[in-house]
Amino acid sequence: MDDQGCPRCKTTKYRNPSLKLMVNVCGHTLCESCVELLFVRGSGTCQECNTPLRKSNFRVQLFEDPTIDKEVEIRKKILKIYNKREEEFPSLRDYNDFLEEIEEMVFNLTNNVDLDDTKRKIDQYQKENKDTIQKNKIKLTREQEELEEALESERQGKEQQKMLLQKEERLQQVMKRKNKQELLDQLETSHLPASILLAQHKGKTTQIEVKVEKTRPAVTFSTGIKMGLHISSVPVAKLEEALYQYQPVHIETYGPAVPQVEVLSRLGYLNHVRATSPQDLAGGYTSSLACHRALQDAFSGLFWLPH
Ligand SMILES: [Zn+2]
Ligand SMILES: [Zn+2]
Repeated sequence: MDDQGCPRCKTTKYRNPSLKLMVNVCGHTLCESCVELLFVRGSGTCQECNTPLRKSNFRVQLFEDPTIDKEVEIRKKILKIYNKREEEFPSLRDYNDFLEEIEEMVFNLTNNVDLDDTKRKIDQYQKENKDTIQKNKIKLTREQEELEEALESERQGKEQQKMLLQKEERLQQVMKRKNKQELLDQLETSHLPASILLAQHKGKTTQIEVKVEKTRPAVTFSTGIKMGLHISSVPVAKLEEALYQYQPVHIETYGPAVPQVEVLSRLGYLNHVRATSPQDLAGGYTSSLACHRALQDAFSGLFWLPH
């Protein structure tokens, strides 16, 4: 990005970090001061391709590749004309063809392919579909307005809720203070023990807090979800299944059965295995376990027969 620069005055972003590159409909870049200089009268031609340009059409270059800026502009323009929606087509296939056509035209205009042909095609389409284009434009504007209205009423609702809550909280503060003063007075004058008075006081405070919780109103959002509304969840159906039954794992070893760990000592196998020291036991080592493993290793594969 740093080596990007203005093709006219050769200033680069490296030399001038505040350099602002601008791009116009033809997709060629110029820096802001060059634009000011060359288009002093409001219009002129592109230095590189001689396209007549308006100064007001220069935009800040958003992408490293200026042709992308150009494409974005073209796409905006095309979509204003080709503004049909999916529901206006008899099938998804037709809608996809329509989208395909749009892509082709955007590509052509961006990359200067069949410029005259494409422009003629767009003009023709615009003439033939004048009414539909206008209708869809109005529809889109109306939808946007509706969305904005919904957002506005959501904002107002929030504001109202906030105010209501603030009012309640202020009221709560006042009541709490009063309550506290009452407690102090009672502690001074009453003959009841302090613990009972304190318990009474606590109960009153909780009541005040609960009241505030209840005043929080339900607000409808633009998404249609009401705030403060608890959605009861449908109980999950219980899965009735047979209980798991344990089956001992049987591993084919192709050898004689290895005696169980518990009987190794009785059968005398452990006579030839090193006795466990306390350190071994701490690490989880027992003689019979090691002996069992060794027997497994020794026995497995003894009856193996090639198929
Ligand atoms: Zn420049
Ligand atoms: Zn140009």
